[in-house]
Amino acid sequence: MRVTLLLLGAGLLCAQEYDLLLKGGHVIDPKNKISGRRDLAIKDGKVAEVGTNIAASQAAKTIDVSGLYVTPGLVDLHVHVYAGTGTAYTGPSSVRPDDHSFRSGVTTVVDAGSSGWRNFENFKSFIIDRSRTRVLALLNIVGAGMAGPPEQNLQDMDPAKAAETANKYKAIIVGFKTAHYAGPEWTPVENAVKAGEITKMPIMVDFGQFRSERPFEELVTKKLRPGDIYTHMFLARVPMLDDGGKVRSFMYEARKRGVIFDVGHGGGSFLFRQAVPAVKQGFLPDSISTDLHIGSMNGAMQTMLTTMSKFLNMGMLLDDVILRSTWNPARQIQREELGHLSVGAPADIAVLRLHKGDFGFVDVNGARMQGTQKLEGELTTRDGKVVWDMNGRSRADWKTLGNYDAQGDPKWDGIVRSENRTRRPASR
Ligand SMILES: [Zn+2]
Repeated sequence: MRVTLLLLGAGLLCAQEYDLLLKGGHVIDPKNKISGRRDLAIKDGKVAEVGTNIAASQAAKTIDVSGLYVTPGLVDLHVHVYAGTGTAYTGPSSVRPDDHSFRSGVTTVVDAGSSGWRNFENFKSFIIDRSRTRVLALLNIVGAGMAGPPEQNLQDMDPAKAAETANKYKAIIVGFKTAHYAGPEWTPVENAVKAGEITKMPIMVDFGQFRSERPFEELVTKKLRPGDIYTHMFLARVPMLDDGGKVRSFMYEARKRGVIFDVGHGGGSFLFRQAVPAVKQGFLPDSISTDLHIGSMNGAMQTMLTTMSKFLNMGMLLDDVILRSTWNPARQIQREELGHLSVGAPADIAVLRLHKGDFGFVDVNGARMQGTQKLEGELTTRDGKVVWDMNGRSRADWKTLGNYDAQGDPKWDGIVRSENRTRRPASR
């Protein structure tokens, strides 16, 4: 009896092997060196097959994505999403992750130091555990994170406590952050490195005020370890270009050592007069990130896709831009299960449209760059579930659905929200 049931089950599975098929798109999967026309099938929340012709009959649902790019879900290495928990700890300019992520093709964000060991658990229970976005964190070396008199208290930069919290929450914490420090000491950087050494995790540095007592060159050629990340690479104060506009040799030396250079656009950290010459000379960012917060999203930065589009219009190839927004950041935080479309990987996928036309982009000092290309988020899946669908590509035409009030369900990806329950009590 049991054998018969199993056989019947197997027969049914064969008819529709896959849950979802994205058909006809141009897949860009830098880790696997794929850039071309491929179909991508999803099963049980994982990438199940990437092939040149997977039949629609093999999938319970097929979405036509021809003319679009299919990439790993974007990994934004630098955001601030510790918002609205109602405690004094809340980062003052943080936003909520789900409000911004999926519509921009982002499925993983890394909060860069909004919380420290004293308030990480509050951040976790109020934001991380309740978000559909995959939220990881770089723990601030300051115990109180960005709360209070932000990030200046040397006494609160305790590497042992930070490391202890990181080891306890290894599933979420991927490293440490020091930022905005104004004093002449190296202590914030040194203590973050200590925490990184204890846990074997990278650190991310925002150098704060640049001071002669602690030169930037020394930071990237001596203080940071291979794998450590300098964010805000195109900040005005970063002395990356010489008077003739050439990238200085110590930048190459730092890169050769394995120091990572991240964009971290933010509200004040991205100038075309730094980025354009660097990109032209081939000094590309290792990772493209937003430094998303209330100020940056309403200013020049806007979104992850706007930030990526700036680099496209500076002359970077789309494949290079995608590499630096997916596999590179995933590797940098030692999350090699993310940022690619290998069979068995979580089906976090971005379907993007590349518009051609007349566009403008702005930097943090208000300078404009004319552009001809702009990326837009068409459809996003997280663990194989559609979490953003701008043009309803995963939906059936209303004319085919009959009296769909009774059967259709406006619930968002399986979550029955309270307003749905109260609006339609009779049908339940
Ligand atoms: Zn930041």
